[in-house]
Amino acid sequence: MAERSQTAPEAGNDMGNEDAIGGNVSKYTVLPSGYCGQPKKGHLIFDACFESGNLGRVDQVSEFEYDLFIRPDTCNPRFRVWFNFTVENVKESQRVIFNIVNFSKTKSLYRDGMAPMVKSTSRPKWQRLPPKNVYYYRCPDHRKNYVMSFAFCFDREEDIYQFAYCYPYTYTRFQHYLDSLQKRNMDYFFREQLGQSVQQRQLDLLTITSPDNLREGAEQKVVFITGRVHPGETPSSFVCQGIIDFLISQHPIARVLREHLVFKIAPMLNPDGVYLGNYRCSLMGFDLNRHWLDPSPWAHPTLHGVKQLIIQMYNDPKTSLEFYIDIHAHSTMMNGFMYGNIFEDEERFQRQAIFPKLLCQNAEDFSYSSTSFNRDAVKAGTGRRFLGGLLDHTSYCYTLEVSFYSYIIGGTTAAVPYTEEAYMKLGRNVARTFLDYYRLNPLVERVAIPMPRLRCPTSLSWPGASSWTPLVGLEDLSQGYLPP
Ligand SMILES: [Zn+2]
Repeated sequence: MAERSQTAPEAGNDMGNEDAIGGNVSKYTVLPSGYCGQPKKGHLIFDACFESGNLGRVDQVSEFEYDLFIRPDTCNPRFRVWFNFTVENVKESQRVIFNIVNFSKTKSLYRDGMAPMVKSTSRPKWQRLPPKNVYYYRCPDHRKNYVMSFAFCFDREEDIYQFAYCYPYTYTRFQHYLDSLQKRNMDYFFREQLGQSVQQRQLDLLTITSPDNLREGAEQKVVFITGRVHPGETPSSFVCQGIIDFLISQHPIARVLREHLVFKIAPMLNPDGVYLGNYRCSLMGFDLNRHWLDPSPWAHPTLHGVKQLIIQMYNDPKTSLEFYIDIHAHSTMMNGFMYGNIFEDEERFQRQAIFPKLLCQNAEDFSYSSTSFNRDAVKAGTGRRFLGGLLDHTSYCYTLEVSFYSYIIGGTTAAVPYTEEAYMKLGRNVARTFLDYYRLNPLVERVAIPMPRLRCPTSLSWPGASSWTPLVGLEDLSQGYLPP
């Protein structure tokens, strides 16, 4: 096999592996080489043929060790980050090392203590693996690619284990969530189908506002929010759900916000990519966040639909589009933070900094110092940049980023890993920051009501980090694979 030329350390590389990876593995049983006969307990079965699943190939390296290959985004082999797969047919106390060997990125929060997520059928709440069992390093056996290895000890033979890059949030979960909201018949919550994806999935548009604001001829101040244009950025959906849950609640702040503003939310801009388990792209391999300038109705229908709506609102003299916020997740930075635009007009530039400054006061995980304003050519096709150029001086456009891993609270150095609940809390804080921005605080009833807490899935006991059998033999099992 011809040696491939090596890529620059931080540039990523363009192809996954010499052997093309077609689809996801489907109930793939790994048998020791030369083994004939029925699979036995301990012959692991890998599967990723489910919604948002991603695992393209499994190579057994030794009795304990497996090389795992991420399936590249559909029609775009450059992106390989998201993984999500199950393992079953395990033996009790079976120890394994899984190496994810074909990441397309080199910088990673794995360097800073991030760990993959795990759950199992008897412990269905996602948790992060203990960071001490996770290694991230350049591996000579994989053309010096960066490899993430983690050690794991299976403990229950009947369980199916699932591993993922971050908390999954599927299209079906999202549809069920919206169905449940619709059933509540709230007169300030509206759901419509703004369009369809290439594979005929729904592009949902939510409107949250007091019915008074929807009367014929009423003037509207609109806050437009979008999420999941990048399908692997699942924290985007938790933040977005946090925003929605707060805005539809009976919290006094939410009531005031509904009276004064119209929230238009398209929480899932890339439903096909989400369904398929892609990281960055749509079914046809497009990074939709680079196509705002000229979205095609057949190749980028969801983006086209949202852009049409925004232009329509822009042209409506009764509508003032005041904010556009596109929610993403970041694979190398900590905290929540924002990207904004650069304007010639100094005053506009200063005013643009107000919202992130206020958000920083409300959310302990949001960092104003990580917030930045740019006009890089590479980001010209993003929603923020395009709309920042289109809309007039009263509108502000931001990308809201949140770390895939953790946040650092001011004055400390300890990284606090994000949970699903912490992502949703950031969403609630984004929503209530509009109260400060519009100086609506005097209108809130003077009742001390705590911020609503969302229902959490029941926490089931896992023989957590502390009670796992320590993997003392790791060095022996992974000779040559440990970081220097
Ligand atoms: Zn993104």
